[in-house]
Amino acid sequence: MIRQPEPKPEVLSRRDEIVAALRALVPPHPLSGESVIADPLRLKPYETDGLSAYRQPPLAVVLPSTTDEVASVLRFCHANGVRVVPRGAGTSLSGGALPMADSVVIGLMRMNRILEVDFDNRLAVVEAGVTNIGITRAVEERGFFYAPDPSSQLACMIGGNVMMNSGGAHCLKYGVTANNLLGLTFVTIEGEVLRLGGAHLDAAGYDWLGLVTGSEGQLGVVTEVTVRILRGPEGARAMLAAFGSVEAAGRAVDAIIGSGIIPVALEFMDRPCIHACEAFAHAGYPLDAEAMLIIEVEGSVAEQDELLARIRDICAPLNPTSMKIAESAEQSAAIWKGRKGAFGAIGRISPDYLCMDGTIPTSELPGVLTRIGEMSRRYGLAVANVFHAGDGNLHPLIMFDANDPDSLRRAEAFGAEILKLCVEVGGCLTGEHGVGVEKRDLMGVQFTARELDQQRAIKSAFDPGWLLNPSKVFPLAQAAG
Ligand SMILES: Cc1cc2nc3c(=O)[nH]c(=O)nc-3n(C[C@H](O)[C@H](O)[C@H](O)COP(=O)(O)OP(=O)(O)OC[C@H]3O[C@@H](n4cnc5c(N)ncnc54)[C@H](O)[C@@H]3O)c2cc1C
Repeated sequence: MIRQPEPKPEVLSRRDEIVAALRALVPPHPLSGESVIADPLRLKPYETDGLSAYRQPPLAVVLPSTTDEVASVLRFCHANGVRVVPRGAGTSLSGGALPMADSVVIGLMRMNRILEVDFDNRLAVVEAGVTNIGITRAVEERGFFYAPDPSSQLACMIGGNVMMNSGGAHCLKYGVTANNLLGLTFVTIEGEVLRLGGAHLDAAGYDWLGLVTGSEGQLGVVTEVTVRILRGPEGARAMLAAFGSVEAAGRAVDAIIGSGIIPVALEFMDRPCIHACEAFAHAGYPLDAEAMLIIEVEGSVAEQDELLARIRDICAPLNPTSMKIAESAEQSAAIWKGRKGAFGAIGRISPDYLCMDGTIPTSELPGVLTRIGEMSRRYGLAVANVFHAGDGNLHPLIMFDANDPDSLRRAEAFGAEILKLCVEVGGCLTGEHGVGVEKRDLMGVQFTARELDQQRAIKSAFDPGWLLNPSKVFPLAQAAG
């Protein structure tokens, strides 16, 4: 189970005073109403995030609508030694937005305005609470889109994406959030408002954007984001390649990437996942296969035809049990339908699951998947694999029963062993979900004590009192504050 830092008694005992001060700083919104939540029942939705095995109600939640309000809340918390947990949509799968009992949650969801769209310079400026899909919706009329596409894109917010450096199925070609980010408005714990980056891919001086991207709400609060928008491709088409073994599918991934082709997406599903998704989405998936790949290419029709034919030829020697090339946008959508609903589909067959997230070199896929299968038998817990195979970004979904403490304990140990294996074969602890509370105690597997000290020194430089999301990223015993 996850341990949290001891709550500060001096903060808990001043709860009413702190809530009153926050109410004075962030008055009710004319349309959305109350901006500070302290009633225990109304705090319930904020006590957990996408890692719902762990829960902790915060001291209070504050819902600012402007950068100035965020700055004044941070200034107050800094002056009073109050811990702060920034929160977007709360979809983090690593417990990044899990509160502490003595913390104030700053929810950014009311900051949801599109501030500027500049098609000539291919950028958009949006507030941190705009959903990921909301950016594409704001620009698609003119044929543009925002590329990083987490599966949670209907709900998750761009501020959370920046703080987790989120990825998605199409990041194989377009890169993750960091590769599509131009600038930020960023508020420090002292309440100072900084503009980092700007409207270009590079900015003079140190790379501040690079430093704060992926910092999991530990260095400051993002209020505005400038992103690159791209013109959509002429067209895109998917194909499905099914195999009689996980190893053969893994070798196909390796061969496609090794050939120099960069599909726009290359996704992997194993047998349990194929069955769960087919029962849920009726997408026509091959139920006789042990594993299948969804491969999408884009460009003109001629380019699509050529790339799909080359990929089919690369897969053929691996004896696929079936291959299906979509002939239309509708057929492509049908192939994607099951994949997009994969997490929900697993939720239908298991009361609870842990979604792990680690990255490995693609050449290690067959061996790693075999060892995950062995672990599954040893821990007595089912696992389904669905992941961004082209990036080597694994997402084993470990099924367990949260009502059974032993089942949760085994799931946690199983997950930790998978992540250690990722590091052992030359990969890393996270691909896109961040460290949060979930992986913080494994950071020593990836980094030396000296490297962790240096990372903590950066945290201390931004936030000397360790007030911003302090229980995340670093092993608890080593977190300051
Ligand atoms: C079904 C499902 C599918 C998912 N698929 C993907 C996927 O394909 N790819 C992927 O990368 N992730 C995925 N995720 C994980 C999650 O959606 C991402 O991590 C996302 O970026 C979190 O955004 P959020 O707005 O929900 O942030 P939250 O969960 O609210 O917060 C995430 C972290 O960012 C911090 N934070 C949030 N907003 C701010 C801000 N404005 N300023 C400072 N700190 C902030 C929080 O403190 C926390 O540490 C998935 C999650 C679910 C539930």
